[in-house]
Amino acid sequence: MIEVHNLTKRYRGGTAVDGLTFTVEPGRVTGFLGPNGAGKSTTIRMILGLDRPTEGTARVGGRPYAALERPLTVVGALLEAGDLHPGRSAREHLTWIARTNGLGRARVAKVLEQTGLTEVAGKRARTYSLGMKQRLGIAAALLGDPEVLILDEPVNGLDPEGVIWIRTLAKRLAGEGRTVLVSSHLMSEMALTASHLVVIGRGRLLADLSTEEFVAAH
Ligand code: ADP
Ligand code: ADP
Repeated sequence: MIEVHNLTKRYRGGTAVDGLTFTVEPGRVTGFLGPNGAGKSTTIRMILGLDRPTEGTARVGGRPYAALERPLTVVGALLEAGDLHPGRSAREHLTWIARTNGLGRARVAKVLEQTGLTEVAGKRARTYSLGMKQRLGIAAALLGDPEVLILDEPVNGLDPEGVIWIRTLAKRLAGEGRTVLVSSHLMSEMALTASHLVVIGRGRLLADLSTEEFVAAH
């Protein structure tokens, strides 16, 4: 479960996130929907402890991210393509993350298989398509077998096959009882992926409702 309470981020130039309160429940895919610049990434960065709130709190599995004992086993987040070492392979990336987080090698083989990367696991990241990089990012997020999964704009730039793959995976992981939060600026995509929506605009909560209710009202 993710619990966000009065979460606020102000910059000198303005307010990116403005008093957000919402809960992301386990067992379903929650879409985090809003136009570009709405404050989705800033919210996610605060949930992951990468950015400090000006006000308010964000908790994952009942604690602030920084207080989690083994963070990767509680929450997994999509690795950004910019974090990749072009000269290193998928297997090397995952092995390095596993090692630095006290996770066994068996997890690496498991997530390579889960994301369909086993065959290309030895190739350097610079040869990967965007879709393969997304898969590698998701493989990294799954390494700790986390209860909570956060994917920030995972389908951006992907071809239809990649979009459907991510959609199917998100639903399967939620079906296993995990908490899954997927951000997007695309309503059409979220309507197909999420069963619940948290909608924001200009850093503020606009709606928190089932996808069915949202579609019926618009
Ligand atoms: P989204 O992910 O929904 O596209 P962001 O969270 O990236 O939105 O951005 C929300 C707002 O905060 C935007 O107006 C953006 O320009 C601003 N913002 C984000 N990061 C910073 C920063 N480091 N300094 C100043 N403003 C920022
Ligand atoms: P270089 O390729 O420049 O020699 P290093 O091996 O010294 O890089 O690592 C520099 C930083 O890159 C490390 O502190 C770590 O953050 C990151 N890093 C190293 N190896 C990997 C890997 N296999 N996957 C992801 N990040 C890595």
